[in-house]
Amino acid sequence: MIPRPFELHSPDTISEAISLLKSKKDSKILAGGQSLVPLMKLRLVSPANLVDLRRIPGLSYIKEAKGHLLIGSMTTHNEVATSSLVNKKCMTLSETASQIGDQQVRNRGTIGGTICHADPAGDIPAAAVALDAELKVAGPRRRRVIKAKDFFEDILTTSLRREEILTEVKVPVLPPKSGGAYLKLGRGASDLATVGVAAVITLDKAGACKDARLGLAGVGSTPIRATRAEDVLKGQKLSDGLVAEAGEKASEMSNPSSDIRGSAEYKREMVKVYVRRAIGQSLRRI
Ligand SMILES: Cc1cc2nc3c(=O)[nH]c(=O)nc-3n(C[C@H](O)[C@H](O)[C@H](O)COP(=O)(O)OP(=O)(O)OC[C@H]3O[C@@H](n4cnc5c(N)ncnc54)[C@H](O)[C@@H]3O)c2cc1C
Repeated sequence: MIPRPFELHSPDTISEAISLLKSKKDSKILAGGQSLVPLMKLRLVSPANLVDLRRIPGLSYIKEAKGHLLIGSMTTHNEVATSSLVNKKCMTLSETASQIGDQQVRNRGTIGGTICHADPAGDIPAAAVALDAELKVAGPRRRRVIKAKDFFEDILTTSLRREEILTEVKVPVLPPKSGGAYLKLGRGASDLATVGVAAVITLDKAGACKDARLGLAGVGSTPIRATRAEDVLKGQKLSDGLVAEAGEKASEMSNPSSDIRGSAEYKREMVKVYVRRAIGQSLRRI
């Protein structure tokens, strides 16, 4: 199918883009188009106006400042996946981006687009909640920062207002003695997560778990921060038994649906397996 007719607007600045969103009531932002355009072709969404962010300069960058990675919202998955800075400072994020779709999707899809699309089976949203990412948003009256944990409200639903634009993703650099991983069970290349687990483990000087952060993809209506699993690990010397218990707790916190990717029961089992593996991989990388 081809999309219904629409008008394409290509603003040169963020404020022009916001004015367009304000004045054109039936409008959507276009970033890489890797989620929006397929939905338009299926006529599941048919906005009369598209506000294209691609001409706006200064929305695509990766830099480090004051213990954080700052990533412009129009930075592509490929740029995040192949950035040596991201790989060095937050391997969980580069490993997540490297597993999105295929090369074509990674070349066009953006970090801001995938976060705003808020597919609960998306890879980056789970990493964003595990990594305590903060999302910088520009709107008609003011700029604000939304924590990733407060951003995802439901399937394809976020706390972003209609006239707001995500401009930057801020991710804390992993502390010393940390390892991270993103492990994904999918149905082959170019598929969303049946189950995805983003992990960060930080050890203290004595080798006990100082901090644990786990985000789950594909097993709820939003990405899930598996806090009860994290609590099992924190302050403990990690053993196979404890790691398995964390997997059990994460599985209890998940709330998957049965669909073409598998039954809810299967997904809950896979959460246990992938949480164990993601913790193990993180520990090996410290
Ligand atoms: C074949 C294929 C395979 C894929 N496989 C995977 C996969 O394995 N894992 C995965 O996670 N994803 C996958 N995706 C989705 C992909 O990650 C998309 O790139 C991503 O979901 C959307 O990013 P985008 O830049 O293309 O956004 P768009 O499609 O342009 O926009 C998506 C939504 O976000 C809004 N939006 C975009 N940018 C902003 C912004 N800065 N501020 C406010 N709102 C904004 C748009 O209005 C729209 O509603 C796949 C897509 C395809 C086509």
